[in-house]
Amino acid sequence: MKHEGLLYIISAPSGTGKTTLLKRVMSYFPDIRFSVSYTTRPPRSDERDGKDYHFISPQQFQQMVEKGAFAEWAEVLGNRYGTALDSIRESRFQGVDLILDIDSQGARQIGEHFNGGVFIFIFPPSLEALRQRLNDRKVDGQEVIQFRVAQARDEMKQAKWYDYIIVNERVEEAAEQLKSIIIAERCRRERVLKRIGISKL
Ligand code: 5GP
Repeated sequence: MKHEGLLYIISAPSGTGKTTLLKRVMSYFPDIRFSVSYTTRPPRSDERDGKDYHFISPQQFQQMVEKGAFAEWAEVLGNRYGTALDSIRESRFQGVDLILDIDSQGARQIGEHFNGGVFIFIFPPSLEALRQRLNDRKVDGQEVIQFRVAQARDEMKQAKWYDYIIVNERVEEAAEQLKSIIIAERCRRERVLKRIGISKL
């Protein structure tokens, strides 16, 4: 029997450098799948439909909510984001580990419905550094940046129930830490025994 795929749930306030970090780590683990969320947010210039997100209309999103198609969903900064239940079920069934890049509201829902999730929170080095990064990104205006920083401060409080915190000061170091967590979690006693088919030592 195949082992059940693990769920790595990664949350970070926007501007924490999470996308770069995840890209690095994903390229190190070709066997890990990235969960592509559904969102009502319009795509940014460098984003591709089906790769970064499934970009859908608010009506389509609502229909999926009503059909119970989401394992979790949440509203973040006026847009809705959700993870399809089918893709989680499929990965778990295939024994493929999945990375979910979702906010803490969604993470909590995953924690309530699935066993064995690994919850990882990415912190910016400081709120000032976050403000600076959001400025440099040149995506949002000052008002939105101010709001995002306030949101980040709030969101970071949720890290209290996560398993791990990574402070993303230098992306190389943060990537090493994330890799280490993934490797260590794969070596947990109960998971290894299950994977190699030993039910009792
Ligand atoms: P962004 O618009 O910057 O890509 O993402 C905004 C926030 O939405 C981020 O905190 C991101 O983790 C979160 N997010 C992305 N996809 C999902 C999802 O499927 N569910 C939930 N709950 N949050 C998501």
